[in-house]
This record gives sequence, structure tokens and C-alpha cells, in this order.
Amino acid sequence: MDEAFGFADDLGPLKVIHVHEPSVGLKAVLVVDNVARGPSVGGVRMAEDVSTEECFRLARAMTLKNAAAGLPHGGGKAVLYGDPRMPRERKEVLIRALACSLREVGQYIFAPDMGTDEECMAWVKDEIGRVVGLPRELGGIPLDEIGATGWGLSHVVDAALEYCDFGLEGARLVVQGFGAVGKHAARFLTAQGAVLVGVADSRGSVYNAKGLDLERLLELKEAGKSVSAYTGAHSLARDAAVEMECDIWIPAARPDVVHEDNVARLKTRLVVQGANIPFTAGAERYLHDHGVLCVPDFIANAGGVICAAMEYRGATEGAVMQTIEEKLRLNTRVVLEDAKARRILPRQAALDLAVARVRRAMSTRRWSLF
Ligand code: NAD
Repeated sequence: MDEAFGFADDLGPLKVIHVHEPSVGLKAVLVVDNVARGPSVGGVRMAEDVSTEECFRLARAMTLKNAAAGLPHGGGKAVLYGDPRMPRERKEVLIRALACSLREVGQYIFAPDMGTDEECMAWVKDEIGRVVGLPRELGGIPLDEIGATGWGLSHVVDAALEYCDFGLEGARLVVQGFGAVGKHAARFLTAQGAVLVGVADSRGSVYNAKGLDLERLLELKEAGKSVSAYTGAHSLARDAAVEMECDIWIPAARPDVVHEDNVARLKTRLVVQGANIPFTAGAERYLHDHGVLCVPDFIANAGGVICAAMEYRGATEGAVMQTIEEKLRLNTRVVLEDAKARRILPRQAALDLAVARVRRAMSTRRWSLF
């Protein structure tokens, strides 16, 4: 009893379902956290070592992100246990079996996450239909290809600059992580006048105070190389990105990359979080105390889920990009204004905003959670 409800609070989770099908070796867990705003959306993560509690925390993050973004969806998350690099045929069997096992759980809409992709979602569609993140040929909007999250981040940066004493033109930008999120954020921001001075990927980093050539960096990645193969800049260790002097610093790689032990090395004026939980709570508090503005992840990186939710309703790419721009600009202002007025961390303001929206939706229901 205690174990099963150990992480439950008054927002959720509504359901925790463990799935087991020995005939194909399927083991999975689904957490449907809160559906007061609508059926939950959250990715299927394929991994070997994610606990039920971690799955719950990821589901809760989606409840907050979806509510903050004003989407008619709650938060959920599924973990499919296994090595994501397993042969494609084996993966297909597991994904199809998972979809079938959750056929009746209408409160969860499948989406891609680490270890799953558009093709996996196509298998889910074939089995049960209730899915977002599909290939273009099946009516999907390829959010990483069009840069939905990076597009959102660029607007969050622009809106946050109203609370800083510098503008985008000529602002020095560092992007940590040069994948689907980071490279598009760099593309949109440099198109508006920012100067990309540093980038890092998992294999190294490069820095040039005069600016890096984005096209050359993209070509390197396209060719499967690291950004550290870039010539005409200082090639540095991967973690040197934390110390690169700049005006805007965008984490777009992994969780907890900035923590109590390295946050003092950051030399920037604005942080906009592209990755999920890239800073520890202590590191965010440090930035706040030292006058560095930091826009939290679930406000700043919601472009991807907005795209997915709109795909579900058959929206066009143009409408998606416009909505991301509108929603994220507005949310950034609301959160930063509230943080300023109440002298609280932007993350606290963002949490208050999201939780109030969830509670409002819950208050209109006969029961609170289901
Ligand atoms: P990705 O795998 O396409 O790119 C990740 C990049 O980070 C790669 O360039 C990789 O080399 C680099 N990297 C990994 N470890 C690093 C390290 N320690 N230091 C520097 N670089 C490192 O992933 P993505 O889709 O761009 O996602 C990045 C982050 O953003 C993840 O935390 C993800 O959960 C989050 N996120 C993604 C989306 C989306 O739309 N894809 C939406 C919201 C949040």
C-alpha cells in the first residue's frame, strides 16, 4: 500500500499500470498523472533502468508543461523496458504489444520520447490509432525536423529580453547540446541577429568570440562528426561550455548539467532552458541571487508538445509555428512579470501558474482526478 501510493499527492497520479506479457518479453509501466484538462499526452521512453517513481516524475512534468502551455491535455508517461538499440524487428513487436495492452486506456495518448521515434508511433497508429508524433506520410508534423522546440526557445529568449538590459542584435549566444533542440534554437536566434560564439555536443565544444559559422557546424553534424571538428575556433573539452562568456546560455543536452559545484563558473546574463531539468534547484537559486534571469524548462521548451497536441487535431505546420510563438511569448511574460512582482524564482511563478490551471480544471469535475 505504502509503496504503491508513496509518491501520490492531490494532483495525481490517477493510474499506475504495470504491463507484463511474457510471450514477447514485454515489461512496461504507464503513469497517467492527471487528466482533468483532457487525456494525458507524454512520450514512451524505451530504457532499461527507469523506476516507476521516475516515470511518475516525468508524467508530472508533462502535467505541468501541458497545463502551462494551455493545452487540453493532462500529463502521462510510459516506460518500455529494454535496450533502445535492439534490432528493429524486436522493437516493433514490443511497441505493438504495448499499444495493444493499453488499447482500452483512453486517458493516455502515445507520443515519442528517448528511444522511440516516428516509425514506432506509426506502429502504434496501426494497432490502436491513439498517437501523436507520426511520420509526415501519416499526417504527422515532424517536430524535430521543423525545429518546433528551438522555434519556441527563440521566442522565449526574445520575450525574456524585455526583462534584461540588452537586446538580441549582437548578443553572444552559447548552446550546450547541438541536437534537435539546440541546432534549431541557434538557427532561429542567429537569423534574428544573435552571434553564436560557442557550442558543445557530447564529444567536445568550440568557442570563438567573433562568432561561429552555423552552416559549417550543421554540415559537420550532418556528416556524423562532432562540433569539435570545426576549424577556426578554440576546440575545448565538452564541459568547457559552462565557462564560455556570453549573454545568452541555452542548455539543450542533458539533465543536471549545471549544479551547485559549477554554477559559479557560468558567465552569462540570461539562461533559457531547452533541456528538461538542466539545472539543479540550488543552481537556479544561485543564478537568481546573482541577477541572472533563468526561464525554466517547462515554460521554455513546450514547443514540441504544442506541436504534437496540434498534430492530433490535424493542424497545419504554419498554424503550429504561430501558436508556439503566441503561447510561449505570453507565458514568458506572465511568468517573469509575476516573478518580478512577488520577488520569487521564475520556476516558482511557473509552478504556481501551472498548478492553478490544473486545480481549476479539477474543480469543475465531479471527482477531482478521474
Ligand atoms: P538530441 O539527442 O537530438 O540532442 C542532444 C545533443 O546534446 C546532442 O548534440 C548530444 O551530442 C549533446 N550532448 C549530450 N550530452 C552532452 C553533454 N554532456 N554536454 C554537451 N552536449 C551533450 O536531443 P534533443 O531532442 O535535442 O533534446 C535535448 C534535450 O531537450 C533533452 O533533455 C530533451 O529531453 C529536451 N527536450 C527535447 C524536446 C524536443 O522537441 N526534441 C522538447 C522538450 C525537451
